[in-house]
Amino acid sequence: MVFTFPISYPISKLLDFLLGQEIGNIYNRERLLELLRVTDEFNDLQKDEVDIISGALKLKGKSVHNIMTPLEDCYMLEDEAVLDFSTVTEIMNKGFTRIPVFSGTRENICGILFVKDLAFVDPDDCTPLKTVLKFYKHPINFVFDDTTLDVMFTEFKRGESHMAIVNRVNNEGDGDPFYEVLGLVTLEDVIEEIIQSEIVDETDIYSEFISVLLYLTAIINQPQ
Ligand code: ADP
Repeated sequence: MVFTFPISYPISKLLDFLLGQEIGNIYNRERLLELLRVTDEFNDLQKDEVDIISGALKLKGKSVHNIMTPLEDCYMLEDEAVLDFSTVTEIMNKGFTRIPVFSGTRENICGILFVKDLAFVDPDDCTPLKTVLKFYKHPINFVFDDTTLDVMFTEFKRGESHMAIVNRVNNEGDGDPFYEVLGLVTLEDVIEEIIQSEIVDETDIYSEFISVLLYLTAIINQPQ
């Protein structure tokens, strides 16, 4: 190397100048995914690691529509509700952190109640839900159903809200186009898509426990 340096160095410089620097292989998303797939048996990556890498690479190809909780499965409250003992018990049993509030119909979302807002609410006072909503005024984050997951993830990272209401412009039929609410999506839904598995949190276990308890109570109370 020392001997040939005076010749090879200027030649390599000249070639770099004429042909540009060699960058080697360039992989796009699809090629990287394929590389992961074909080297699966030979690389020392754990399955979880492969799932996370491929989940992250697929974010751009999926939209919130694919992962949202549809409107019919959303637990919501009507703005006319009163935070009495039975409503608060129901909220606790559902185990959700954020609850969309609607006015009139379920498509008309007018606020978000955070369960932590109930910390100072005494069920005996029967506080109207509207009072709590007016006090906290949490902003509602609306997104279109074709928002890709990488964009959604970036928006959630900004931290304004970790829940977004998914809507779309409905221009079917003769009438004017209108916004149609389709469901909701949370940061957890996006993270589950990245890691490609379900996240079970303490409230999920708690709500499953409550459901089993309710089921058993129903069986016990059944007339013989
Ligand atoms: P939480 O903290 O309330 O458990 P997460 O953000 O962890 O909510 O989301 C867990 C799952 O529950 C996600 O699939 C999300 O879409 C769903 N989810 C969150 N809030 C509601 C709600 N009010 N009604 C129905 N599903 C919900």
